[in-house]
Amino acid sequence: MDKILVSACLLGSPVRYNGSDRLVDHSLMALWREQGRIVPLCPEVAAGFPTPRPPAEIEPGLLSDDVLAGKALIFDDTGADVTSPFLLGAEIALDVALSQGCRFALLTDGSPSCGTSFVYSGRFDGAAREGNGVVAALLSQNGIAVFSESQIGQLAETLDQPS
Ligand code: SF4
Repeated sequence: MDKILVSACLLGSPVRYNGSDRLVDHSLMALWREQGRIVPLCPEVAAGFPTPRPPAEIEPGLLSDDVLAGKALIFDDTGADVTSPFLLGAEIALDVALSQGCRFALLTDGSPSCGTSFVYSGRFDGAAREGNGVVAALLSQNGIAVFSESQIGQLAETLDQPS
């Protein structure tokens, strides 16, 4: 049975930067919980960030792969460089996924950690741009299939298929 690393905020944990959650109230989530497939994790909290915390974004024009390659930084809205703890969170997520045997991850879109299809501009102006977060990028680089919360159906179709 395939296990799924899931962003803790999608499970209702109030761990987002502003102290909110992003609960996904979907029957599949309840089923997967009952089946014991779900491995919950908030990479940012695991890396030591408090909640609430300042919002953070990948610097403008650059991507999570650049951050992982040491060519781009992540700043919070006070201007503090928070790249190192974000990278630590990504490494923890990969360690947890591998140690728990997760071939899949279901992650919260838009986050500089968990985003899978978009992140924010880096200018804290609310503008979205195509890209993913450092957790999604590192998991993908290591063969873990990443889905956003809007792709639950696609994830369900993929589970338990031969790799
Ligand atoms: S790091 Fe991921 S799990 Fe944690 S609050 Fe942000 S989106 Fe949710």
